[in-house]
Amino acid sequence: MTPTSLVFLGAPASGKGTQGRRLAELGGFFYLSTGGLLRAALRDSSSMGEQARPFLDRGEYVPDSIMVPMVMELLKSKVQNMILDGFPRTVAQAEALDIAFQDGGKEPPSAIFLDVPMDELRRRVQGRLECSACHWVASRGQTELCSKCGGPMLPREDDDVNRFESRFREFERLTFPLVTFYEERERLLKLEALGSPDDIHHRILSKLSLSKSHGSKI
Ligand code: AMP
Repeated sequence: MTPTSLVFLGAPASGKGTQGRRLAELGGFFYLSTGGLLRAALRDSSSMGEQARPFLDRGEYVPDSIMVPMVMELLKSKVQNMILDGFPRTVAQAEALDIAFQDGGKEPPSAIFLDVPMDELRRRVQGRLECSACHWVASRGQTELCSKCGGPMLPREDDDVNRFESRFREFERLTFPLVTFYEERERLLKLEALGSPDDIHHRILSKLSLSKSHGSKI
């Protein structure tokens, strides 16, 4: 697979952020995390944050009517060489994304599905911390300060047990169908994402051939 842009699909705590960011840094892709954008909007109490807050508080997906225009606005004139972490999460979002790429004259993105069993997701979600400054993710006990920027590593609010279960149900109901969406379009790479982050990173790299054209960030 030689993609120009990639979407990371997976349940909560499947490693989308960790792997997506690593690959983006390595290949010079622009990296976009919609979860990260929403959490920043909540912290800033922006109007976007206030619209999204009730859904995030319940561990539900933010509706397509909010998410699609938000991402389409960001993609204006920037549709190239990117890694999307957490978008699309629904078929409507995937269709809108393909149209945006086609309208921008670009090859639509391929998807990497990180497949992780439920008991491992539960274990990871209980053990993960996120940097409150740059959103780097690490395991509890690994470090109290972010290895990327030195910021404080804290648990994510939506990683509590109830919200995790709700987010997982949303994933099964709304995002899992995207595996078929990308498979039918022959744009899917499905990976067993068990093992250390390094192992998974190398497994991803072994399946991709990244061209140097990714060197320019957008
Ligand atoms: P993440 O950081 O990707 O796990 O996202 C955290 C939360 O943000 C999710 O559980 C959703 O509530 C919300 N969210 C992020 N991206 C999307 C999206 N594409 N569609 C709907 N909700 C989203």
